[in-house]
Amino acid sequence: MKGISILGATGSIGTQTLDVVRNSNDDFKLIGVTANSSVDKMKEIIKEFNPKYIGMMDADSAIKIKEFCLENNFKVQVYSGMEGLIKISTLDEIDIVVTSVVGMIGLKPTIAAIEAKKDIALANKETLVVAGELVMRKAREEGVRILPVDSEHGAIFQALQGNEIKDLKKIILTASGGPFRGKSKDFIKNVTLEEALNHPNWSMGSKITIDSATLMNKGLEVIEAHWLFDCNYESIQVLVHPQSIIHSMVEYRDASIIAQIGSPDMRLPIQYALNYPKRKEKVAKEIDFYEITSLTFEKPDIDTFKCLRLAFDAGKKGGLMPTVLNGANEVAVSLFLNKKIKFLDIADIIEDAMTIFEEYTHNDITIDNIIELDEKVRKYVINKKG
Ligand code: NAD
Ligand code: MG
Repeated sequence: MKGISILGATGSIGTQTLDVVRNSNDDFKLIGVTANSSVDKMKEIIKEFNPKYIGMMDADSAIKIKEFCLENNFKVQVYSGMEGLIKISTLDEIDIVVTSVVGMIGLKPTIAAIEAKKDIALANKETLVVAGELVMRKAREEGVRILPVDSEHGAIFQALQGNEIKDLKKIILTASGGPFRGKSKDFIKNVTLEEALNHPNWSMGSKITIDSATLMNKGLEVIEAHWLFDCNYESIQVLVHPQSIIHSMVEYRDASIIAQIGSPDMRLPIQYALNYPKRKEKVAKEIDFYEITSLTFEKPDIDTFKCLRLAFDAGKKGGLMPTVLNGANEVAVSLFLNKKIKFLDIADIIEDAMTIFEEYTHNDITIDNIIELDEKVRKYVINKKG
């Protein structure tokens, strides 16, 4: 039985990971879980799974969970803040950490988990975007596995099995195109928050849903793929595929292409990452090809969806530029979610930050430099727009 911790257990990926654990026939024992402030959801997790360790980022929420556990006789250790996230990522009893918090807040706990020699089932793409070089190097040094949970990267990872990375010619990263696929800038400039949150194929947390609408999600995934699969940006092609059935593809030097296909259900890549290299009985629905009328493909429109271009630019620039891209995006999305800015402002804010902070991006890639620059970028964007 593998011991498992889930960071961000109350979110979209966290909840679906719990479902995989629930259906795993005791392959996994849930030892640690964290959340930001979702007290009610955490109580439900405690009642069902009885984990031994809990981390609530928010201190008041940690107190509420402690009281609940005392009143109901659950023997649980409750932590709060970043210390709690790190504690839950490094417990002796665990083998694998699912990083499903949203945002680069996942950076420190991910590094701590790797240093404690835990395998990582990685959903938290922002961490790889800002610190891919550090994370992958540390993982190699410590001999731990970074198992991708993101559906595209899970697909690529599967398509790479049994092949040699030196034969890899191209990664074809598929994208649904989001709710505004095919629309003009004129149309998009006035879209509402509700329209942007209405993703055609996936039900996800609000931040990644907005990222999917701007195509920044695909941009972050390009950088994620660069680090996970050690391939240069010229060999990553983004392909809009509105049905989200082909989760991504790999092209080899003999021009053979291997695709991974499945229903759009995150439990499939989560289950594969947790059980790798084994396969288990399905949790997701199988595909019925008689029901699929067509699979279509389009080139992404990077003029209208400037975020995708900005992410390629930041990735190619390298250094700390992806930290600027990510920090500005996290703040801009949160401003949009709070109805403080319009949809197209998101990309403009990121572009502006990438220009303003250019000179800071040549510093060494260290955790401290990443965090310091991230804070500067956030402050700058908030002062200008918040
Ligand atoms: P979500 O918003 O649904 O859940 C986020 C989780 O993180 C919650 O448990 C929340 O309590 C916790 N959290 C939020 N802010 C926090 C903070 N400041 N400190 C500590 N904990 C905090 O997000 P999600 O959709 O599950 O996405 C999680 C990550 O997985 C993101 O990086 C996202 O890009 C990635 N991802 C998600 C999906 C998906 O289908 N949802 C698919 C691929 C990748
Ligand atoms: Mg994805």
